[in-house]
Amino acid sequence: MITFKKITKTYNPGKIEVHALKDVDITIEKKEFMTIFGPSGSGKTTFLNIVGCLDVATSGEYLFEGERISDLKPIELSMIRREKIGFIFQTYNLIPVLTAYENVEIAMILSRKRYTKDDIYKTLEDVGIADLADRLPREMSGGQQQRVSIARALVKSPKLILADEPTANLDSENAMSIMEVMKAMNEKYDVTFVFSTHDPLVMEFARRLVKLKDGKIEEDRLK
Ligand code: ADP
Ligand code: MG
Repeated sequence: MITFKKITKTYNPGKIEVHALKDVDITIEKKEFMTIFGPSGSGKTTFLNIVGCLDVATSGEYLFEGERISDLKPIELSMIRREKIGFIFQTYNLIPVLTAYENVEIAMILSRKRYTKDDIYKTLEDVGIADLADRLPREMSGGQQQRVSIARALVKSPKLILADEPTANLDSENAMSIMEVMKAMNEKYDVTFVFSTHDPLVMEFARRLVKLKDGKIEEDRLK
């Protein structure tokens, strides 16, 4: 589904250069449940941003479902993001004035796919918060908010869900239950998950573990 060929990302080119990714080669298949791990500054967020078409590589080739991402215009990248990729963030990034239901619905509207109210409720039910549909983010715990953001990522039936340190703001009990929800959704809907973490307990959920160090893949193993 995803192929990186010698993907390099250099911030501040020509000035004080930061080499965030260096000649990264990787292939990610459909249905994978993969973690990208490594110390702070190793390039995890940069990697996920490029996979998610939120940023573009400085050099190298990126193929998403056979399409050369490196050649696309910003508007085409945003269409891929809205229609094909779900995002989960460390700080949930819900819209504070919208309810759980409305936060999920927004993703559906942006994807321009047809939907019914039941589709939204079913997704909230999938992540275990059907009873919280009318709550605002400030009326929910961190774990509950992260479930809303999983529902928001999932509702448009994307090919790929990317999660950048999704459990970093949660206590270990909530972190484990969020990982269990993600894994259950991976199995139920065959959607590929790629998540970053530096928590060994969270890494253990992955079937494939890829370690980044100084912008390079240092280890890539299946469990
Ligand atoms: P991680 O998520 O593993 O902590 P990042 O991908 O955020 O790593 O960062 C990799 C390197 O790139 C770090 O040295 C970081 O300081 C640098 N970096 C990240 N974003 C930018 C940016 N927008 N401009 C300049 N340097 C950046
Ligand atoms: Mg990061």
